[in-house]
Amino acid sequence: MYDVVVIGAGPGGATASRSLAEKGHNICIVDKDTFPRDKPCGGGFSRSIIEEFKYLKPRASDFLKGIARIGVLHSPNRQIALEGRVDMALTLRMDFDNVLLEEAIALGALPLTGTRAKHVVFRDDAVTVELADGTSVKGKAVIGSDGVTSMVARETQLNNRWPNSSITACRVCEIPAAPNTIIERYTNDLKYHFFSNLGGKPGYGWIFPKQDTINVGLGVVGTHAKGLPNEFDSFIRYLKSLDLLPKSTDLSRAKGALVPTAGPINVTFSNRCLILGDAAGHVSPLTGGGIAYAMKAARHAANVISYALENGAFDAQSLAKYQRLWQSDFGDDFRNQLLAQKIFTSPFTDLLFHIGSKDKMIQDIVSEAMAESSEREVDVRQLVLRTMQVCLREALGFKTNG
Ligand SMILES: Cc1cc2nc3c(=O)[nH]c(=O)nc-3n(C[C@H](O)[C@H](O)[C@H](O)COP(=O)(O)OP(=O)(O)OC[C@H]3O[C@@H](n4cnc5c(N)ncnc54)[C@H](O)[C@@H]3O)c2cc1C
Repeated sequence: MYDVVVIGAGPGGATASRSLAEKGHNICIVDKDTFPRDKPCGGGFSRSIIEEFKYLKPRASDFLKGIARIGVLHSPNRQIALEGRVDMALTLRMDFDNVLLEEAIALGALPLTGTRAKHVVFRDDAVTVELADGTSVKGKAVIGSDGVTSMVARETQLNNRWPNSSITACRVCEIPAAPNTIIERYTNDLKYHFFSNLGGKPGYGWIFPKQDTINVGLGVVGTHAKGLPNEFDSFIRYLKSLDLLPKSTDLSRAKGALVPTAGPINVTFSNRCLILGDAAGHVSPLTGGGIAYAMKAARHAANVISYALENGAFDAQSLAKYQRLWQSDFGDDFRNQLLAQKIFTSPFTDLLFHIGSKDKMIQDIVSEAMAESSEREVDVRQLVLRTMQVCLREALGFKTNG
């Protein structure tokens, strides 16, 4: 019997497995795919993650595809583009997730890839994970890091299914491009572009230029996602018309994917089980960014399960500490991001951009928030206060001048 069976080897599952293996526990990590595997994604995350998870630094050349230093945010009416400084690491998930899994395996985690987990069966003394090939693996506990359609969340009834209003449906394409054409178009700062509320629908579009690919994508809240492939095509035409994408862009490799964007589920633990990453809704409702949150949650999960293994206490009450830990680490981020999401999808968004265009501080707050690069949460209170201040300044300026 394993100490822990981890289901899903994305950033969440691989990080939890490595952390548990490092503490000397006996880990099996199950994934339906064989690695290296791609995962539809923008591939941008805060550069600070490479510092925080120290083992990533010596492996950076295996996954890092550049650092974006400037973000350009386009208003819904396309009249205003705000620029701000950011610090966003860029990667290809094919490489990044493979490095994370390799790191877990190097410390002793056993990979069981190319095998779908079908069911989890909880007993008093163990958990059995039944696999699609008819075999099973047993552990003292299980981690559900199996992504947006999590079987573990469903079977533990922690989340039966995300409603359409809680997910964002995306279309994304990683387009190969010559490095010199990327620098010509997006500069050495790998200027990335973020578009809010395309076509008046709640959601966002992006271009993340990398070392030798351009990642372009569009996400729309599930309730408005009908016709997404057509919307994506017209987004691409629009970008070409602005010369933000080469005319020859080949979209034949575009893929669809879902990401939860309504904040975390209420409860992320049950007897002998913790849920993390997309499975738990650990994703920014504002940007759809979840790599960093999945990894941070994984570290908390590993600490709590390690303690449970040492003390033989796997009941829900003992594992509840996990939820307290991630909530105090980054739980407030989601509240702020949800509020910011409401502001950025409201009819006032264009006005906010207009006001922001007159103020550097607003530009910096907004571009940090959108860039996955913020170490601090998006400070909505500061944003609103600053917006009011600028309005007042403008109004007084008008009176003085008048
Ligand atoms: C289009 C798009 C763009 C995005 N862009 C960004 C971005 O730029 N930056 C960012 O930070 N986040 C981004 N995200 C979100 C990010 O991809 C996720 O938040 C992140 O991958 C979560 O990691 P995870 O480990 O929880 O889940 P995943 O990375 O989804 O990993 C889950 C793993 O579980 C496996 N699995 C699922 N079910 C089973 C099963 N039954 N049995 C066995 N294995 C199973 C899957 O094969 C997969 O490998 C984007 C998402 C989308 C859809």
